[in-house]
Amino acid sequence: MIAMKFGGTSVQDASAIRRIVGIIRDRLSRRPVVLISAMGKTTKNLLECASLAAAGNRQSALGKLEAIRSYHESVANQSVLDWSRTEGSRRIESYFGEMRKLLDGLSILRELSARSQDKMLSYGELISTSIIQEVLVQNHIPAVWLDSRKMVITDEQFTAASPLQGETNDAVQKQVRPIVENGQIPVLQGYIGSSRNGATTTLGFEGSDYSAALVGLALGVSEIQIWKDVSGVMTADPEMVPDARTVKAISFDEANELTFYGAKVLHSKSIEPARLGNIPVSVCNSKEPERTGTWIFEADPSEKNAVKSIAYKKPVILMRIQSNRSLSTGEFYHLAADAFLREYAVPLAFGTSENTVVALLSGQTVSSVIRNRLTQFASVACRENRASVSLIGKNIAFRRNILQDVSSILKDVSLDWVSWGVSENSFTFVIHENDLKPVLNSLHSVFFREWDPTLFC
Ligand code: ADP
Ligand code: MG
Repeated sequence: MIAMKFGGTSVQDASAIRRIVGIIRDRLSRRPVVLISAMGKTTKNLLECASLAAAGNRQSALGKLEAIRSYHESVANQSVLDWSRTEGSRRIESYFGEMRKLLDGLSILRELSARSQDKMLSYGELISTSIIQEVLVQNHIPAVWLDSRKMVITDEQFTAASPLQGETNDAVQKQVRPIVENGQIPVLQGYIGSSRNGATTTLGFEGSDYSAALVGLALGVSEIQIWKDVSGVMTADPEMVPDARTVKAISFDEANELTFYGAKVLHSKSIEPARLGNIPVSVCNSKEPERTGTWIFEADPSEKNAVKSIAYKKPVILMRIQSNRSLSTGEFYHLAADAFLREYAVPLAFGTSENTVVALLSGQTVSSVIRNRLTQFASVACRENRASVSLIGKNIAFRRNILQDVSSILKDVSLDWVSWGVSENSFTFVIHENDLKPVLNSLHSVFFREWDPTLFC
C-alpha cells in the first residue's frame, strides 16, 4: 500500500487532472490511497471570500464565490461526461449552498473566527476530491470518496490543529483499510480534519503533505509519494534560483531542518510521521512523472558532508531583548522564552548572553501580546524586513571552510546575525530581505559549482 498526495497545482485544470489519473493508474498494483489538495489557488480565494464577507462586503463575497463555483464547474465539465448527473456534482451543489449561508453569517457577524475560517477553507478540498473521484471512476479506476474529517481527528487549535494520533490511527484503519483491501482506491482530502466534537479543523496552510504522512503512518504504507509541480526537493527554491537542481536523496533529519528553515517544498510537520513509521517519502513532479525526484528516508548512505540545499525564510524579524530589571540571568531567560511560548510562537533561533536574548521570528510584525509581555522586564529592539538563509546538509557544521565560503559571498552585504554550530546540519544567517535574491544565487553558484552527480541531478 502507498499514500499518494497531489498538491494544488497538480490538479489545477483538466489537463493536470488527466495527468494525475495516468499517474494513479500506473501505480494501481501498489494499492494507492490518494490524498488531494484544493485546486489551484482555491484556498486563497476562499479565504478572500470569507474576509470580504466578514468586512461586511456580502455582495463581493458572493460574487467571488460564484467565480470559484464556475471555475470548478468548468474543470468538472471538461473532465467528466454528464458531470451534472453525478453524485459528485450534487455534493458540490450542496457545498456551495452551505458556503453561501456561511458567508451570510459572516457578513452579519462581521467577524471571521479561526473556527469559521477552517470551516470555509475545508470546502476547497471537499470539492476537488468530489470532482477527481468522479474522473477516476469514469476512467475505470474504482475510486471511493471519503470525508477526511471522519478520519483525521485533531485538537481544537483551529487553523493549525494537531492530530490525535491514536484516534486518527483507529479511524483510518477502520474506514480506509477495508476499501483498499476490497481493491478500491480511497480518495481523501488533505489539509482538513475535525475535532472530537465534529468541528471542522485544518492542519495549517499547505497541510496536505502532513495529512498524507499521517494517513500513511496509520496504514503502515511502504511509501508516501508527494506529487508537486517541482522535480523534488531542490538545491534551492527554483523560483528564486533558476539554476537549482534536484537533490536525489536526503535524510529525515535534513528534510526536517530544511522545512523548519522555510523551504516551502514540504509542510514542516510532514516528516515526523514518516520518521516515526520509518516510511520513505518520495517527492516527484506530476508534470514529469518519469523523472527521478527526491527520496527522503532514515539514513542517507552518503558520508559526504555536502551542502544539500539552501532554504530561506522571509520576512523574519530579529528581536534583541535586553533585561532592564535586576533579574538573575536564569530568571531572565525563563521570562523571555515564556513570553513567546505562551503564544505558541516558536522562534526560529535563540541566542543568549548574560542580560540579552536575541530571537529570530518569522513574520512581518511581532504580536503586541508578546511585545507587551517582554517590555515588562526588558527593552526590545527589532530589525524588521529581514530574511534568514540556511545552508542544510548532514554535518555541515563540521565542514571545513564553510565560514570562508559564506563570507566571501557576503563581502558587500550587511550581516545581522549568524547561527553556526547549534545544529550539526545547518548554518543560518540573517540579512536584509532586499539582499536575499542575489545572496541566494551567489551562494548557490559557490556551493553547487561542482555538483556531485551521485547526490544531485
Ligand atoms: P503543492 O503543489 O504541493 O501545493 P507548492 O507549490 O506549495 O506545492 O510547493 C512547491 C513550491 O515550493 C515550489 O513551487 C517552489 O517554488 C517552492 N520551493 C521552495 N524551496 C524549494 C526547494 N528546496 N525545492 C523545491 N521547491 C521549493
Ligand atoms: Mg501548495
